[in-house]
Amino acid sequence: MAESTTISNTETLMKYMKLDQKGAVLAEYIWIDGSNGVRSKTKTLTSPVKSYKELSEWNFDGSSCGQAEGGNSDVYLRPVAIFPDPIRLGDNILVMCECWDHDGTPNKFNYRHDAARQMEAHKDQKPWFGLEQEYTLLGDDGWPYGWPKGGFPAPQGPYYCGVGTTKVYCRDVVEAHYKACLYAGIKVSGINAEVMPAQWEFQVGPCEGIELGDHLWMARWLLYRVAEEFGVQITFAPKPIKGDWNGTGLHTNVSTTDMRKDGGMKAIEAAMGKLEKRHVEHIKLYGEGNIERMTGEHETASIDKFDWGVANRGASIRIPRQCAADGKGYFEDRRPASNACPYQITGIMMETLFGGLPE
Ligand code: ADP
Ligand code: MN
Ligand code: MN
Ligand code: MN
Ligand code: MN
Repeated sequence: MAESTTISNTETLMKYMKLDQKGAVLAEYIWIDGSNGVRSKTKTLTSPVKSYKELSEWNFDGSSCGQAEGGNSDVYLRPVAIFPDPIRLGDNILVMCECWDHDGTPNKFNYRHDAARQMEAHKDQKPWFGLEQEYTLLGDDGWPYGWPKGGFPAPQGPYYCGVGTTKVYCRDVVEAHYKACLYAGIKVSGINAEVMPAQWEFQVGPCEGIELGDHLWMARWLLYRVAEEFGVQITFAPKPIKGDWNGTGLHTNVSTTDMRKDGGMKAIEAAMGKLEKRHVEHIKLYGEGNIERMTGEHETASIDKFDWGVANRGASIRIPRQCAADGKGYFEDRRPASNACPYQITGIMMETLFGGLPE
């Protein structure tokens, strides 16, 4: 069992965090690795930057991140977005990067590149995405945070949006992460405690186009980083605890100009037909281990059939009651698991709604 890795001297650290950097600016280059995780390293800059375009490319050892062979291991980091750094403060920044290979092609795990092309090709449709990122907090023994050691809490019921001791676990990490995201300018639209104790959700969006993936991945990096200081582990596993405990999802809310305008329900219904035809391809990108979550129980649909319905939380796609009443709005794809990649989700969504990329 892992020993606690909590930073044990936070107070001492604070003394150094306040030291003058003498004009230096720290840029934390962040990328997605070969196993759906995030990695980062820091570069010292000599002056503040206003745009990612002012930043130079960098590189890293791809063979240490499951992204390249040892014999040809350099992978390049191409900055694509920057955020104020809520941990180091001041002019320091977080930098979202795409990974590129030495031959000038996108790295195998660079899912952003194609998604960004999809967004660009259909930007006239102003695609909006709002993703509900669920996750589970684990103690340093790998068991859900606050659960009895090797045992179980009382059955589900009081925990969803719960308040009070025994009803809600680990709110400190969650609050700290929320504030950190807002400081960074990430469009977090809300948070809530989930059905399984120690399971939480934050929502990102609505964001237009590729911005959703950038903001969501940055929010994931911050979640790991903030939880590190509390000695708490984060898992995005779709079904962290077997049995009568809810799995973990990444509900994906989608709308386009045509869906948001009066009479938009027609466009939403047309989208349902398109999504139905590509159910299998969507499921392939909707997270590893999703089959354990999408059982048809615990507010999920069954993984091998597509259906949709108004206010139906047991369907693949839910049309919110209010949207049906208004005759316009958005739909919620409930299939993606918590560990799915938002670039892949939003990318295939665009492809399904609007067709493949132009040559
Ligand atoms: P639920 O009732 O399923 O728990 P939430 O309130 O958690 O819903 O999340 C709803 C998400 O839908 C939010 O991220 C919000 O930003 C997003 N959303 C709202 N309106 C739209 C829209 N028109 N297009 C896309 N996403 C939207
Ligand atoms: Mn080295
Ligand atoms: Mn929600
Ligand atoms: Mn939820
Ligand atoms: Mn939802």
